[in-house]
Amino acid sequence: MKPAPFEYHRPGTLDEALELMAARAGEARPLAGGQSLIPAMNFRLARPAALVDLNRVAELAYVRPADGGLRIGAMARQRVVERSLLVRRAAPLLAEAMPFIAHPQIRNRGTVGGSLAHADPAAELPAVMLALDARLETRSRSGARTIPATAFFTGLFGTALTPDELLVEIALPPLPPGSGTAFVEVARRHGDYALVGAAAVVTLDERGRCRDARIALLSVGGGPVLAAEAMKLCVGESPSDEMFRATAEMAATRDIDPPSDIHASAAYRRRLAAVLTRRALARGVERAGEAA
Ligand SMILES: Cc1cc2nc3c(=O)[nH]c(=O)nc-3n(C[C@H](O)[C@H](O)[C@H](O)COP(=O)(O)OP(=O)(O)OC[C@H]3O[C@@H](n4cnc5c(N)ncnc54)[C@H](O)[C@@H]3O)c2cc1C
Repeated sequence: MKPAPFEYHRPGTLDEALELMAARAGEARPLAGGQSLIPAMNFRLARPAALVDLNRVAELAYVRPADGGLRIGAMARQRVVERSLLVRRAAPLLAEAMPFIAHPQIRNRGTVGGSLAHADPAAELPAVMLALDARLETRSRSGARTIPATAFFTGLFGTALTPDELLVEIALPPLPPGSGTAFVEVARRHGDYALVGAAAVVTLDERGRCRDARIALLSVGGGPVLAAEAMKLCVGESPSDEMFRATAEMAATRDIDPPSDIHASAAYRRRLAAVLTRRALARGVERAGEAA
């Protein structure tokens, strides 16, 4: 099928893009890599009256170091982030997750901002941003906002963005000393959307006890899920198989409400969530030990 008719705008600067978004608030949609929006338009699941193409807004495409962490422009291509040495050093969790997104052809066009704004509950990047405690910077003609990842995702394909607002930057804080991270997922074939995935950031104190743990899961509900109850179990504990297992069970039974669909039953997703949380935690602890 072909998309319904739409106006096409190609601004060269962020200010021009924001003007267009304000002029057509509620009717215009930004176009990033087009890897989700264009198929949705072709299926007529999306019928925007106008597209504001961000591909010539060069000021939104970057990866920069910032205060020990990173700042990533919304239009940074997924493949650029995947290959960035800076990302590998400052945000190894993000680097580890990138190759699980679709295939290289899609990552060549797909952007970090597009994936976050799309907010697919099965997508890798929203969960990674929760685990890394990212801040999402937005702009509209009326101002700028900083939204913590925990408040950005509001449900199935839902975000805190208003209709005239653009996501412009993702700020990742530095990992605390003594931290290790891990990303794991299970999909039917490499490159498919995950049946379940888990991202973990574990920080150990000087005695090897868990000072902090952030665990985020994907494909287990209406959006990415921070496993808050499970995370509490880790704090102050010495890592052990028993601790990993108890935390994983807590995540799978208390923190998530997975759906049943044609890909997997809710019960299977719960089982996978437990297994993957345990693996992510154990690997995170191992890497934190190596970093110490
Ligand atoms: C075959 C296939 C397999 C895929 N597999 C996976 C997978 O395994 N994991 C995964 O995570 N993704 C997967 N994807 C999706 C892919 O990662 C997309 O690149 C991503 O979801 C959207 O990024 P995009 O840059 O293409 O955004 P677009 O498709 O251009 O836009 C997506 C949405 O975000 C909005 N938007 C874009 N940029 C902004 C912005 N700066 N501010 C506000 N709103 C904005 C658009 O208006 C639109 O609503 C797959 C896609 C395909 C086609």
